[in-house]
Amino acid sequence: MKGLLKKGISLMLGLTMVVALFTATSFESEAKAKKASAKKNIVVVLDAGHDTTHLGCHYENFEEGIANLYIAYYCKQELEKYAGVTVYMTRYTLECPYGADPNSATKCLAARVNCAKNAKADVLISLHNDYDPDLDKSQNGSKVIIPNPNYRPQLCVQGSQLGQSILTQLVGTGLTVNNWKLCPNGTGIVTRDSTSGKYPDGSVKDYYALINQSKSAGIPCIIVEHAFCTNESDRLNHLSTPEQYQQLGIADATGIANYYGLKLKQ
Ligand SMILES: [Zn+2]
Repeated sequence: MKGLLKKGISLMLGLTMVVALFTATSFESEAKAKKASAKKNIVVVLDAGHDTTHLGCHYENFEEGIANLYIAYYCKQELEKYAGVTVYMTRYTLECPYGADPNSATKCLAARVNCAKNAKADVLISLHNDYDPDLDKSQNGSKVIIPNPNYRPQLCVQGSQLGQSILTQLVGTGLTVNNWKLCPNGTGIVTRDSTSGKYPDGSVKDYYALINQSKSAGIPCIIVEHAFCTNESDRLNHLSTPEQYQQLGIADATGIANYYGLKLKQ
């Protein structure tokens, strides 16, 4: 009797283990399948920096808010030639869609991050062009500002790899790698820290609101500074015609597609 009971118990234990194992395996494969299907489609939110209320840099006949919008549209158009990607923009017109109050720059930036959150973005890519405030005309070329390694270090890693992929394409259009004088590391991949802001873990925040608010939302965000309008060669050869903006937009899209391993639609 005792032996039979023991046998019964061990059989039941064995069965429970098999069931537990089976359940664990099916949960695991379900999770894997979910992960695979989630990976099937990448959501990219492109942010054309500035607008007619929150002006960017301007020099000679160059107006940054207009140039950034051109580049964003061309980038979206090119990226949509690939399968497995959905592209949104934080603005589609020259005007600010988030309230045309010149003192609302902070609110406007928060709204752009919210746009990415609502779209369930895998990444927020802000497209800009640069200006040297001292009119130092030797400053030229492209750089990408990425999240610093604090608080959510994985976002820094992703930003760095995506940024490098885009930078490689931009250099392919004839632009140089900018050695930013605020952060002269020679790579064109830079971080910039806030002087006072902290993340919840006490580490130093990223300087740019778009990057630090995206980081708080768990979204990698990078700022692509394509070229310098204060540099004559950059302005004339890369920032003067729609064709040149198209070339930059295609370079961005190709860099994004390469990073995510996207394939052109059949
Ligand atoms: Zn800008």
